Parts: sequence; C-alpha cells; structure tokens
Amino acid sequence: MSDKIIEVENLVKYFPLKAGFFQGKTLGHVKAVDDVSFSVVPGETLAIVGESGCGKTTIANLILRLLDPTSGDIRFKGQSLTDMSSAATKEYRKNVQAVLQDPYGALNPRMRVGHIISEPLEVHGFSKSERETRVRDALTAVGLPDHVGSQFPHEFSGGQRQRIGVARALTLEPDLIILDEPVSNLDVSIRSQVLNLLKEIQKNRQISYILISHDLATVEHMSTNIAVMYLGKLVEYGNAEGVCDDPRHPYTASLVAAATPPGTTPPWQTPIVGEVPSALETPSGCAFHPRCAYALPKCSNEHPPLTQIEDGRFAACHLYPDHIGSIDKHAPVTTNTPEVLTTSAGDID
Ligand code: SF4
Repeated sequence: MSDKIIEVENLVKYFPLKAGFFQGKTLGHVKAVDDVSFSVVPGETLAIVGESGCGKTTIANLILRLLDPTSGDIRFKGQSLTDMSSAATKEYRKNVQAVLQDPYGALNPRMRVGHIISEPLEVHGFSKSERETRVRDALTAVGLPDHVGSQFPHEFSGGQRQRIGVARALTLEPDLIILDEPVSNLDVSIRSQVLNLLKEIQKNRQISYILISHDLATVEHMSTNIAVMYLGKLVEYGNAEGVCDDPRHPYTASLVAAATPPGTTPPWQTPIVGEVPSALETPSGCAFHPRCAYALPKCSNEHPPLTQIEDGRFAACHLYPDHIGSIDKHAPVTTNTPEVLTTSAGDID
C-alpha cells in the first residue's frame, strides 16, 4: 500500500466552450487544470493557493469526484479512482470529506444540527446508537455543547456554523478533508479560531487536509506544504515557511508582497498588477509573462516546466538557474503588456 493518502498525477481538466442554439459547436476549451501533479501524506496539510480562476477549486471537485478528469490520474492510498468498484467508491466517499466556503449555504436551514451532522452516518448505514455517539464526539471535537443538536442553523453565528460544518465532516472519521476557503466568509476575528481548531483536530486525529485558498497569509501557519497555481498550472511548490518567507517564482513573490503588512519589506518588491487573463486564451510561453516584471525574451514563447531548483523546492520559471542572480528583487517594477489583462477567468476556479 502507498504511504501517500492522495496522489495526483498529470491531472488535466478542460471545459469545452459550446455555442449555437443546441450548443453543438465547440468554440474552444477552458483549461481549468493543466498537467498538475502532487501528493499528500498522512497528517499533512497541502495548501493550494492562487487567484480566482487558477483552477484550485476544480482540483478539489475532481478529488471529490464531483467532476471527471479529462486525463491524468488520482490515486487514493495507491488505488486509482478510475479503477474503483462501487463498494470501494463508497468507502472512498466516506474517507474523503469536505468543508465548504459558505457556512450559511452549506447547512440545510430546515434540518436540526444533530440531523445535519448525523446525515452522512445514516447514508453509510450506522446504527442509531453509533450515530448518537459520533455526533456527540464530533460536537465535542469542535467545541460545541451536546444540546446544540436540537437547534437550527439560523440560531448560530458564522463561526459556529463553520464548526458545525467541520463536525459533519468529522463524523465519518475521514483520512482526508478538503477545506475549500473555510474561513474566507468569516469575520477576521474568528478566522484564527476556526483555523486553530482545524489544526488541533488534525494533531489529535492525524487527518490530512487539502486547503484551498486565495490568501497566502491565511494558509501560512496552517500548512505543511504550499502549491501555488496560475491559470491551471502549478508554478511553485515547497514547504510552507520557505514559500512564504523566500518565494522563488515571481508570481508567488507578488502574492507574498500583496499579503505583507504595511511598513514591512517583502522578500521581493513585486506588486501584483492587472487581472488574470482569460483561461480560454492563455498567453503563450509562460502564462504569467504579461504580468511579470522579470520576463526574458523567451518567456513569451517557451513554456517553463516545473523544475526542482533545490531540495524540496520547485518552480516553473526561466529565471532558474542562470538568470535569478542578476535580477534586482527590490527595483521599481514595470509591467509588460497591460492590454492583454482585460478578461478574467471568471468563475472557473
Ligand atoms: Fe516571469 Fe519568465 Fe519566470 Fe514566467 S518564466 S515568471 S515570465 S521570468
């Protein structure tokens, strides 16, 4: 058996863009996920970070089997999802749970909290007494008293609702939880409470997390490794501290600079400019080149593969290995061709 919980290999997801009254004509494809590979080991948190439209939520939906990949493979404990029998698929759905972004929309307003949390147990055939025990344990794990089980979601604050969402994900004792922007809809004051709770639960139960976020500052203290995505591709991968304190890809450096508090000098003086280009017409070569202050002549026509630049650190950038030493990371920044930055990838996340 594999020592990895999940392995994603050369994953591709293209969405066809249809036109015409019967949608019969294919105009092109939106490359939401384009040749992405990574793995997660038990007890690890992998954060997948990038702007809206980079493909991070599509990866979450592919792992949750809400979408089928165009090509590539996802393996759970060594077994490919495409080879799973229906019994193995049911077991997989039990072992991989999700906590969604919107704590208001994720809970059925007509169901009592106890029923919301026990519903996955009913689906998987647990007895009544087992359900009651597990619901109590899950509520305790997220710091809520037993009696909230008889209340309705509207009686709770956003932070408490997100705790209920976490409790629901925990009842089946999963090996992996996908956290899709779990705190972005919450007040700043309670974000750290929810993140600390998730960390505590992980420590106690050895659960792996895949944390989807657009915000590097949010994921830094929570993650083991960080994968940075841009327009469907991984552009940087490494341990969380290294990626946040010493980013290697200009796009990551821009995200770090954007998250740096006023009065503090970021590792690269690289403000992020412009919008993400359309995923229908990704720029040639390095897709980041229209927004990159350090672009080389070959960046506009030669795609940089994700390459190991040192132990445990990967970047997809032509600056490595020969040009990185000659750039000034603190020079005033100019950008290349702002006219291509007019369309956004929109809601393909
Ligand atoms: Fe910038 Fe070129 Fe590196 Fe892309 S490959 S990030 S355009 S320097």
